[in-house]
Amino acid sequence: MPVVARPGAPAPAGTPPGRTRTSSGAQTFARAWAKAVAGTSYLPLTQAQLEALLHGFTVRLAAALLAEPLDLRTGQRIGAELVAAHVASAEGLGRTAEVLQLRLVRDLGLVGEDVEDRMARLLGAVATGYARALRDRTLDEQESIRRAAMAARTQAERALRESEARFRHQATHDSLTGLPNRTLFTERLAAAVNAPGRGAERVGLCFLDLDRFKVVNDAHGHQVGDALLGAVGDRLRRALDGHLVARLGGDEFVVLVERSAGTRDMIEVAEVALAAVREPAPVDGHELTVTASLGIVERQVAGASPGDLMRAADSTLHWAKAAGGGRWELYDAERDRRELARYALSAAIPAALERGEFYLDYQPLTSLRDGRVVGAEALVRWRHPELGVLRPDSFIALAEESGLIVPLGGWVLAEACREAERWAATSADAPFVSVNLAVRQVHRPGLVQQVRDLLDRTNLPPRRLQLEITESTMMSTAEEPVRALRHLAELGVRIAIDDFGTGYCNLAYLRELPVTELKVAGEFVAGLRAPGGRADERILASLVSLAHALDLTVTAEGVETAGQAERLRAIGCDAGQGWHFGRPEPADRLLARLT
Ligand code: C2E
Ligand code: CA
Ligand code: CA
Repeated sequence: MPVVARPGAPAPAGTPPGRTRTSSGAQTFARAWAKAVAGTSYLPLTQAQLEALLHGFTVRLAAALLAEPLDLRTGQRIGAELVAAHVASAEGLGRTAEVLQLRLVRDLGLVGEDVEDRMARLLGAVATGYARALRDRTLDEQESIRRAAMAARTQAERALRESEARFRHQATHDSLTGLPNRTLFTERLAAAVNAPGRGAERVGLCFLDLDRFKVVNDAHGHQVGDALLGAVGDRLRRALDGHLVARLGGDEFVVLVERSAGTRDMIEVAEVALAAVREPAPVDGHELTVTASLGIVERQVAGASPGDLMRAADSTLHWAKAAGGGRWELYDAERDRRELARYALSAAIPAALERGEFYLDYQPLTSLRDGRVVGAEALVRWRHPELGVLRPDSFIALAEESGLIVPLGGWVLAEACREAERWAATSADAPFVSVNLAVRQVHRPGLVQQVRDLLDRTNLPPRRLQLEITESTMMSTAEEPVRALRHLAELGVRIAIDDFGTGYCNLAYLRELPVTELKVAGEFVAGLRAPGGRADERILASLVSLAHALDLTVTAEGVETAGQAERLRAIGCDAGQGWHFGRPEPADRLLARLT
């Protein structure tokens, strides 16, 4: 038998039969239910609102209980709705179960043989719906917490990324021009060179530096200098759109051509860059014009390294500068190798001096009248531990450029004087030693004192020292060298003009100078054996007689044959030097020759 409302139950007057009992019972029940759950969780409802809500549930539960078959879905839904209405705690569920179990059937006056059984199942459904809703709500809550946390994290990450981006921009850009700086350029260059699979492609660099930028700074001040750099940066960026233009610092800029099609391409880029720099720039009321020098390196990615590229570009830039600036130069590996070798050799000179790797050979200067050795030229050699014996041609120029000729030449001078002093024992008028002096040595203020000290220390009489100076040294406009040479001449030291005839010296000028001897360059002597050497012979003859008129002796260099020696003697030349008389030789061999 289905469960029904008990027909005999007393009903208040005026209500339709069969339902009245149920509806007033529902009221009673709802009140009891509301009381039971009140305080089990925080409810945003007044007691009356809660009662009304639970009354609705009571009516629906009663209907579910009466339905055929038993309506468990409604039970579950009501469980869920309780949770939605914030009756949402374990306690709330417990009290609800208790009150439903104990009072619902009774208060509503429901009868039927399986009413208890149905009630239990309905209660189960309510509990299930309740528990599921509670679980879902917890999950939802967790989910929304998770979402909120995620949103917060995303937000924080974005802020971090933004500040990182700002920081990175600052770290990779130059504040003056806004161009990428050395850091970014280095990264991009490394990426271009190291990118996998790019081996066959080509990469290029234009390294440029403003010419005489210091003058702009000095003349107009740093502010104008900075503004000019800004203007140059702007123009380079605009002119070379598509390539990375970076400022490396100071007035140095670089253009990276990540995919070059060859040197022609790079030359085009270089010319665009130079033209952009050359445009007059209105800066702070001045119309400034600057030029730049530019070095181009272009090569296959395979085997290239950023460091090598930069170094090569830097060398090439210096070639452009050395050639006068306002131009580009293309990297030349052979030239670079040569310069590197020269540089290494030059850098090795001080240590070589310390280790005693230099030594002197002596070449006789022989009288053409009687064949006597009147002097000997000291010629420096370098016994290099790896390269073997080096002739002066391979290192003297380097030493002159670097200034190392001063200590080296000082050593030569001292060694030559020390050696020459030994020759005194050989005869009453022993030969003089003739020492080459480089321009720098002559220009150095301490030269006179240095020579005087040396003569004192070695006991060498001044007239047994001859200093060989090239024409160009003599022709220098500076007062100092001439004064120094005059002092030395007054001391009694002989002064010779070396390689005479290869420069611009004229004899009239020589009259003003404290010179004792001319060494006529080997070129003139070489002419003596050539057919048609008659003209050379006549020139030489008049040169000799003019020199004699000025009280100068003449030594001919590069005398290789007896014929040349004979002609030179006939012309009136005083002495000869060359293979015909003797090659440069160690000091002991010369000494043996003298005794
Ligand atoms: P130099 O002063 O004109 O020296 C003469 C050079 O001609 C020497 O070369 C000598 O070996 C070479 N020579 C001698 N006789 C003959 C010959 O018959 N035929 C030919 N073809 N050559 C001959 P070296 O020793 O190689 O010296 C080269 C240059 O190096 C010298 O030219 C001189 O300018 C410079 N030098 C050498 N020693 C010194 C030094 O101690 N100080 C400085 N500043 N320069 C030096
Ligand atoms: Ca010489
Ligand atoms: Ca010479």
